[in-house]
Amino acid sequence: MKTLKDKIRFEGRVLSSQVLKVDSFLNHQIDPRLMAEVGKEFANRFKKENITKVLTIESSGIAPGLMAALELEVPVVFARKRKSLTLVNDLLTASVHSFTKNETNEISVSNQFLMQDDRVLIIDDFLANGQAALGLVDIVKASGAEVAGIGIVIEKSFQNGGSLLREKGFRVESLARISSLEGGVQFLAEVEA
Ligand code: 5GP
Repeated sequence: MKTLKDKIRFEGRVLSSQVLKVDSFLNHQIDPRLMAEVGKEFANRFKKENITKVLTIESSGIAPGLMAALELEVPVVFARKRKSLTLVNDLLTASVHSFTKNETNEISVSNQFLMQDDRVLIIDDFLANGQAALGLVDIVKASGAEVAGIGIVIEKSFQNGGSLLREKGFRVESLARISSLEGGVQFLAEVEA
């Protein structure tokens, strides 16, 4: 997605060879127009999958997840990283090791919001080693629903999450794929749709 790649080129800050900071449009300040485009692009890519629900993880997955859900005309559910006082019973949970925080969190979703007949589109902001996406996959499986696909805003293709998920048979669509952060952001050579 060209507008996204341009935004990453101009506003992304490479913090190390492994970490990209995009605080000005995705992870802290959010660019609503760009998120609307991101939502349209996900909806377009997954429109034939009969999605009934979008599942994401707080907090940075919510903006792209919401916009995708708006376009697909389905609800969006976000997994919580901390236990909520009002979210106590009938939880679906998974353990996720955070790439950026280097800590393991239990993530949870109330089983009220994922049904056995749901076809779920998982959305997240970044894909690194795939732990967040795999945690969300576990939650979908525990509910008895089906993972219809995984949509990622920024995939760092030099880390193993993308191949891990694709090897497991999931359809992974990433709107920007970064091949390296050494000496600046390099994108994977791809034909733009
Ligand atoms: P994974 O679980 O695939 O290893 O990492 C994905 C999660 O870690 C995402 O939910 C995202 O919040 C965070 N993350 C991974 N790599 C980056 C990065 O380079 N920059 C930012 N801002 N977040 C990242």
